[in-house]
Amino acid sequence: MSWRDIAEGIEALEDLSLDGELVAELERRQSNSSSPQGGIRFYTPSFKSYQTSEIHGCGRNAWPAVSITGSDCKLQCDHCKAKILAPMIPAREPEALWSVVQGLVADGAQGMLLTGGSNHRNEVEYDPYYPVVRRIKDAWPSFKIAVHTALVDAAAAQRMEQAGIDVAMMDVIGAQETITQVYHLKRSVEDFERTLEALMATKMKVVPHIVIGLHYGLLLGEWRALEMIRRHRPDALVLVVVMPMYAPPKRPFATPDPHAVGRFFLEARAALPDIPLLLGCARPPGLTRTAIDAYAVMAGVNGMAHPSDGVVELAVRLERPVRVISACCSIAVGDEVMAIESDDKGLALDVQAILKQQRRSLKGIRVVSETADGGGA
Ligand code: SF4
Repeated sequence: MSWRDIAEGIEALEDLSLDGELVAELERRQSNSSSPQGGIRFYTPSFKSYQTSEIHGCGRNAWPAVSITGSDCKLQCDHCKAKILAPMIPAREPEALWSVVQGLVADGAQGMLLTGGSNHRNEVEYDPYYPVVRRIKDAWPSFKIAVHTALVDAAAAQRMEQAGIDVAMMDVIGAQETITQVYHLKRSVEDFERTLEALMATKMKVVPHIVIGLHYGLLLGEWRALEMIRRHRPDALVLVVVMPMYAPPKRPFATPDPHAVGRFFLEARAALPDIPLLLGCARPPGLTRTAIDAYAVMAGVNGMAHPSDGVVELAVRLERPVRVISACCSIAVGDEVMAIESDDKGLALDVQAILKQQRRSLKGIRVVSETADGGGA
């Protein structure tokens, strides 16, 4: 059966209109490959809330996000307007960060994303916080800290490393027009590559992001960003798709074309065959999201946060070993960290429940469940 037929046979995907040529090309790419696509991990809040797989039902968040500037950001990029920071836990002073983390640890958090608004040079001013970060890591060495680095030079990257930061994340932008117009920033594409290079020279895990459709909903610098990432070979690449909910009316964003996004997945997989490729939480809603998710499975991503209905079944029917991990998506961050910490982070789950929800028999198809001790079943 062709992949197109398989997708069309899944009830939850029946309203989907996929690009037949692209699906055929994805299938061809896989059948010509000497190695199988390997497993895929799906991160969902819980099986009970799986059918409405949005943020609700998350409960206690194992990976909260903390902003050192609260909701302030000088850049006010057109797609964000600092709104991404608003729901985060504020820690506007180093001692506030210490108190926040004490509370998080007491609540059972496994780690946090540390971020903040940028200055006019797309730098987040973390320096005063590093002594507290060091104290946190000395007190709770297993508490993981992922930092949204923004732009750094080699010295700043080393200060992050010395403070004990585990994971460095940054958005890689490959088009000068996007840097200038969307980010209102007087920095160059080369500054983004130099940041990546500086982070790669440290011992931190480096997980860059590409925000697909960042140029007002169009793909523009994505291929150059991919090329930069290919040159530096980070620990994983996270792909997200712009969700321009906050764009001002005079600078509107289009919803990115899901077929163009799917084609980019194919190219990203081909460019980075041996680097984990993860689809983060941020994607536009509705059928666009479902199509994006279906293409991501077909392209061979290694992990996906909050899959649309029908997409887990698609992966199973394409004979990819599937693991489903109970994880919340704190603005698309903790999941990615968990994804590269590959062993025993999953909680016990009942894969049979999801199979029942998918309404069709999957007899004979290989499914791997994540168990509390990390073993597969
Ligand atoms: S994307 Fe980052 S730098 Fe831009 S407005 Fe949002 S928080 Fe600020």
